[in-house]
Amino acid sequence: MVRPRKRFGQNFLHDEVVLQQIQTAVSPKVDDWIFEIGPGQGALTQQLYGFCERLQAVEIDRDLIPGLRARYPKLELVSGDILRVDMAQLLASDAQHPQPAWRVVGNLPYNLSTPLLGRLLAQHGMVKDMHFMLQKEVAERLAAVPSTKAWGRLSVMIQYHCSVELLFDVAPESFTPAPAVQSSVVRLTPHASLAGGPELTQTLERCVALAFQQRRKRLSNSLKALALDFDQLPVDPGARPDQLGTQEYLAIAQHLLDRPTSQD
Ligand code: SAM
Repeated sequence: MVRPRKRFGQNFLHDEVVLQQIQTAVSPKVDDWIFEIGPGQGALTQQLYGFCERLQAVEIDRDLIPGLRARYPKLELVSGDILRVDMAQLLASDAQHPQPAWRVVGNLPYNLSTPLLGRLLAQHGMVKDMHFMLQKEVAERLAAVPSTKAWGRLSVMIQYHCSVELLFDVAPESFTPAPAVQSSVVRLTPHASLAGGPELTQTLERCVALAFQQRRKRLSNSLKALALDFDQLPVDPGARPDQLGTQEYLAIAQHLLDRPTSQD
């Protein structure tokens, strides 16, 4: 047993019941291509290896690489940081595989989840679905509904890209070492198509970030800098930012893009 490294967020899953539950949730198929983030000592890898056509993984801890290679000779293992690898290259498809090809799986270190989700969502069209073990509080934010405490910037942006299912909770004792917090497994399924292109996504991101900077203020105040014409929007200027759903934020973003600029 390797000594778990805190700096890499290593909480190794050892609970066979939970591992089985994850396998059932992912339900790997013979023609699947699966991409695992942070295989560690291979607990989750074991549930996927041999059940799918391709299994690719990225692991940052170099000390774990020889053990993984010996145990899983057919695993396409990349030694590196998932936040630095060329994701588009790793998730590329081929002529035989209609996009999106890849199913992404990972028991994620807590500090990795938000930046990683951002990078994965940028690969729209390459990923079929994602199953992640996350800190329960983060999972709840991903799956939240408007007018709740958990609803925020992350919820809007994730739900713009994906449908989110909270599958089940996992207790700290299922890991070695036990983390200080509860965990949950979620399934994210990217929508077949997005409402708009990168310009709309960026504008949406900007509006949502601005709105939630002051989540207790009225929209007319928190979005003042955007000089919105609320008469043209299906949005109450007296509402608070956390009362708006993804569709309302999209309407604001679209309105900003459609608005004539001073040069028009
Ligand atoms: N999948 C294993 C399991 O379920 O027992 C390990 C899970 S552990 C919570 C997280 C794993 O991600 C560790 O193996 C860690 O070394 C790896 N990891 C952490 N940061 C990473 C990064 N930036 N890129 C790739 N792997 C990373």
